[in-house]
Formats: sequence, C-alpha cells, structure tokens
Amino acid sequence: MVLAGIAKTVVTTMLQIPQLSLLPVAELDKIPLGRLRRDATRLHAVCRYQKGIRKSEISGPADVRCVDVHPAALTEDWQRYAAFLLYHEYLHALGFAGHDRTFRNLEALWPDEEARAMGKSFGKHLRNRAAKWLWTCPQCAKEYARNRRGKGRYRCRQCSIALVDVKAEAVRPKA
Ligand SMILES: [Zn+2]
Ligand SMILES: [Zn+2]
Repeated sequence: MVLAGIAKTVVTTMLQIPQLSLLPVAELDKIPLGRLRRDATRLHAVCRYQKGIRKSEISGPADVRCVDVHPAALTEDWQRYAAFLLYHEYLHALGFAGHDRTFRNLEALWPDEEARAMGKSFGKHLRNRAAKWLWTCPQCAKEYARNRRGKGRYRCRQCSIALVDVKAEAVRPKA
C-alpha cells in the first residue's frame, strides 16, 4: 500500500528531528491509515481521535483512531505533499491539538520545504478534477475548469476567442 510506505518514511524522518526526540514518535506507525472520500475537495487529511476523547485531551498516538489522507495525494505527483500531510497529522497525534504557534514551529521542521508549500496547488488540483466541464480555448488550449457549460458565451482571457465546452471526464483519466 502506497500510504503505508509513505508513512514509514515519514516516521523515519521524524525520528531524526531533534526537537521531537522526547516524544513517542516510534508509536506513530501503529496508527491505522485510511483514505478520505475520493470526492472530498476541502479536506486534505485528518487525524481522527478515539471515541470519547476530546482534542484537548490527546496525550499520544494511542488516543488516535486513524489518520485519513486524500487518495489524490497518493499519486506520484503529490506523494511529497502526502508525506507532509502525514507529518502534520502525526504532530496532532503526538498531542499538539491546535494550530497554535508551537504547532506551526514544529510543522516548519519538515525538511521538504517545497512540499510544505504544496497545499494551495493541491487544493486547486482537487477543484479542477471535481469540475464537470473544461471551457477550452481552440487557439492556445488553455482550460478553464467549471461545473456548468459555457455554451460559447465566454472568451479566452489571452486570445479573446470563444471557449468550447469539453466534458471533463472525457479528457481526464480517473485518478
Ligand atoms: Zn491540523
Ligand atoms: Zn486562448
């Protein structure tokens, strides 16, 4: 399973971060991993706690029921981001419940700087793949992802040529 492999490298990397050395990092690999719904667009990953345990009461990985990651992050293009997502959720699992300053400082210790900045483009990627129509420019081939048809009423921002509706599923393989 791709996710399990990524999780393993994340834990290995975390074991090498000195600021985390007093925390039960090695226990993180006992947390069950899962996937979010394929059509989720807002959530990228989540740390779910055991029944009856409140966010503020998390003391370690044993209080975590599972960590779920968006399946679209498991494709080759996004696996570095998936690793960062796991790192983020694992910090929650270690007892850092909110996104306060301490949390953000720890989050910034993830060594893959580029992956730390991929959230915005991944969000865009999710919205694009959720779109039903691509308003396509016949001249420059630029695509505008939309949920409704444009019916030729809109023009390419660059070429000022009327955009043509192309059904999104027809051109994009289901990832
Ligand atoms: Zn979080
Ligand atoms: Zn164009």
